[in-house]
Amino acid sequence: MKIYNTLSKQIEEFVPKEEGVVRMYTCGPTVYHFAHIGNLRSYIFEDILEKGLEMLGYKVLRAMNITDVGHLTSDADTGEDKMLKGARRENKTVYEIADFYTNAFFNDMEDLNIRKPVIVEKASDHISTYIKMIEKMIDDGYAYLSNGNVYFDVSKAKDYYRLLGKNQEDLMVGVRDTVEEDVFKKNPADFVLWFTLSKFQDQVMKWNSPWGVGYPGWHIECSGISYETLGEYLDIHCGGVDNIFPHHTNEIAQSEAYFGHKWCNYWCHGAHLNDQSGKMSKSSGEFLTVSLLKEKGYSPLDYRYFCLNSHYRNPLVFSYESLDIAKQAFTKLKSKVRALLKEGEIFEEHVLSYMNEFKDAFSNDINTSLMLTVLYDVLKDSTLNDATKYYLVEKMDAILSLNLTVFEDVSIPSSLEDKILKKIDERNIAKKNKDFLKADTIRDELLEMRVRLIDTREGTKYELI
Ligand code: AMP
Ligand code: ZN
Repeated sequence: MKIYNTLSKQIEEFVPKEEGVVRMYTCGPTVYHFAHIGNLRSYIFEDILEKGLEMLGYKVLRAMNITDVGHLTSDADTGEDKMLKGARRENKTVYEIADFYTNAFFNDMEDLNIRKPVIVEKASDHISTYIKMIEKMIDDGYAYLSNGNVYFDVSKAKDYYRLLGKNQEDLMVGVRDTVEEDVFKKNPADFVLWFTLSKFQDQVMKWNSPWGVGYPGWHIECSGISYETLGEYLDIHCGGVDNIFPHHTNEIAQSEAYFGHKWCNYWCHGAHLNDQSGKMSKSSGEFLTVSLLKEKGYSPLDYRYFCLNSHYRNPLVFSYESLDIAKQAFTKLKSKVRALLKEGEIFEEHVLSYMNEFKDAFSNDINTSLMLTVLYDVLKDSTLNDATKYYLVEKMDAILSLNLTVFEDVSIPSSLEDKILKKIDERNIAKKNKDFLKADTIRDELLEMRVRLIDTREGTKYELI
């Protein structure tokens, strides 16, 4: 398995620390609003990664957090508290907001056939772990208390900017004018581990700590939850590219300060889905959610198929036109699978060689569009019988998760069914009389009625398209 590692900026051979076992951590949603389909693009890529690793024979231990506290509207320590913003918007408590949007998130995941990680933990359930870690970081000189808050001192971290691949000067050029300076930090890049002196006096989620009543910063939750659930070493940590800095950079700084050794070997980031105006947003422009797509007549899996056609490291621009193209291709693909006969001998050697191709495509830095190409090659292969094709589709769909072998029961009014059967009889007679023109005309007439004829050894079948 080869995978691009943001840490080395190279495609590397993937070797987990423990043979056959992958410890994988994926940053979860901030549950102050619905996820937009951009967020969900990242979870689709992580889902394929998890299922693909299992296909290669690894046991995958995967954990994800639910951010219900500590995330401000800026990823740095400035701006409004996202959860409070959600609570005010809807006149609810932060707990109600967190519950509602956590459920909404898992409904979206289910709609998109994204498997829920076995370990899902709320940030607010692990406060004592963060306190334990912060205390040690203070004792060891990595963190300091200033004006009530606890900060991480980035000057103490080993090669703090290595995930980003830039230095502090490069960074400050772009942000100098926009960042609100916190005068209590030793270094402008220091970040908050624990807030006690909050500018949000109406903060509801708060806890006792050795530094006073307060709440954790956003970054410490992922270090704490991954430590508690997966231990001191991680193999893979994922998220969207916006997480590289500051979130993942800060996670590395904290975890390595606490453990005293390298923490995670592979960092994998999904490129963004953008809308045509640029960055996807929950507050301006059209708020693109799974429910909105459903309202507009798309299946969530049309969107999954749309995502799988592009490489996870390439930015993708969303438009309804391109979703329409994906939907059409996906519908056609499903009808091809539907037309396959399921019974028959399965040619094992073909299964093996096609599955090897499929695995190679995945192992080539999760090349999902190549995985789809292998699937199309199977369907096109005239040397394969239907049963082998169907079997391969089922096996590949265990990873792609497009419900390729799940068909809606389209009930046909009996009057239409009678008409179709009559036309099939007429066509059979025409073929018997070698009147192929008539036979083809009947086939085309039915196609216009969205009825496709499939000639099989057992006779002519039909499907609605
Ligand atoms: P959040 O709920 O803001 O914490 O984000 C949840 C996940 O979505 C994180 O992994 C982000 O990196 C990712 N993300 C945010 N915006 C986008 C986008 N436009 N396209 C793809 N992933 C995104
Ligand atoms: Zn995280």
